[in-house]
Amino acid sequence: MPVTQASSPVHAGWPAQRAGAVLTVNLEAIAQNYRLLRERVPHAVCAAVVKADAYGLGVAQLAPVLEQAGATQFFVAHVDEGLALRQHVGAQAGITVLHGPRPDAVEACLAHGLRPVLNSLEQIAWVRAVARKQQRAPGVVLQLDTGMSRFGLSAQDVQHLAEQPDLLDGLTVELVMSHLACADERTNPANAEQAARLKEYAALLPVRAPLSLAASSGVFLGPDYHFNLVRPGAALYGVAPHPHEPNPLRAVVGLKAHVLQTRTLSRGDRVGYGLTWRADGPCRVATIAVGYADGFVRARAKGCAWFRGHRLPILGRISMDSMTVDISTIPEGQLEADGMVELLNETYGVDHVAAAEGTIGYEVLTSLGHRYHRNYTRAA
Ligand SMILES: *Cc1c(COP(=O)(O)O)cnc(C)c1O
Repeated sequence: MPVTQASSPVHAGWPAQRAGAVLTVNLEAIAQNYRLLRERVPHAVCAAVVKADAYGLGVAQLAPVLEQAGATQFFVAHVDEGLALRQHVGAQAGITVLHGPRPDAVEACLAHGLRPVLNSLEQIAWVRAVARKQQRAPGVVLQLDTGMSRFGLSAQDVQHLAEQPDLLDGLTVELVMSHLACADERTNPANAEQAARLKEYAALLPVRAPLSLAASSGVFLGPDYHFNLVRPGAALYGVAPHPHEPNPLRAVVGLKAHVLQTRTLSRGDRVGYGLTWRADGPCRVATIAVGYADGFVRARAKGCAWFRGHRLPILGRISMDSMTVDISTIPEGQLEADGMVELLNETYGVDHVAAAEGTIGYEVLTSLGHRYHRNYTRAA
C-alpha cells in the first residue's frame, strides 16, 4: 500500500519514503491490551513493564498511553531507564528498577523517586547506608529467588533476615516479588512450586508486604498466580502469553518494507551472498529494504514477507540492508519497485516471525532496528 495514504503526507509520507521501511505502532491496541490485562486481575494492581525502551517500541510514546489507560506502576530494568521514564509519566507514577542500583547509583535512584528492587543482602546494605545518610526511609521491593537462580534473595538470605530483622531498618518494604521461570508452560509443575515458595519465604520475612509473581504469561495462569500486583510486559505489546493457544491480545506492530528492485530469474540462477539459493525453474524475485541491521537475523532466514495475502518466502541470505523474497505467486505488474510488502501485520505478527526464526516474540520486538520510519497511530 502506498505510504502516501498515511494521515499526514508531510509528517508521515515523505520521511516514510526516505526510510527503507515503515514500522507502525498502534497505541490504541496497546491501551486495549492494558485494559484487557487489568480486567484479568480484578483483585491485583496491574503494573506495566517498559524496560528496554518498551520492548523496542519507544518508551517515550508508549508510557504516556499506558498511564492514560490506567497504569500507575511501571517497571524498568536499569536506573538509567527509570530516569528516562520519569520524563514521560506523571510525578505520582511509581517506577520500580528491577535490577536495583549498584552502590554508586543508589543516590540517583532515590533522589529521583525510583523504587529499587533489592536482590541481595549487599544491595540491601548499600541502599540502607544511603537512606541513613539522607535520613529517609525509601520504599523498596524485595525479590526472592523461588527457583530460577537469576535474581533475588536465597532461602539462606531470607533466614538471615528472619534472624536479624534490623538489617531492614530504615527501609520501607512495599512489595515482595519473585519471577516465574516456566509461566508459558501451563502444565509445568515448577509454576505451583514457585508460587508456594513465594508464600513460604515471604512468611519468614520479618516484614509483611504485598506479593507479586506474575508477568504476562503468569496473568493467564489464573488467580492463584496474581497475588497483589502483576507485571506484564510482552502481552502489552501483543506477544502471545501461551504458544499454541489463541492470542487474546491485539497485534500492536505492523512493518512494511519498500521494494527496491524486482527481476525474473531462470533455472540455475542464484540469489544473495554465498549464492546459497538456486532457482529450480523460472521465478520472479523482489529485493526489499530490510536486512539484518533492522533486526531480521541473518542466521535464521526462514521467514517470509506478505503482499495482499500472498506469502513471499525469503530467498538465500539476508544482507545488512536488504533481503530478497520470492514473488512468483504475484501476478505480473502488481508488485514492482516502489511497491511495499508487509513483514508484520495483523495476522502475521511477531510470534510468527519468531517461530520462523527459532526465537520468541520478545526477541523479535527488542531486535527491531532504529532506522525504520516509525508511525505511531491511534487507529481503533
Ligand atoms: C521482563 C520482566 C517482566 C515482564 O515480563 P513479560 O514476560 O514481558 O510480561 C516482569 N518481571 C520481571 C522480573 C521481568 O524481568
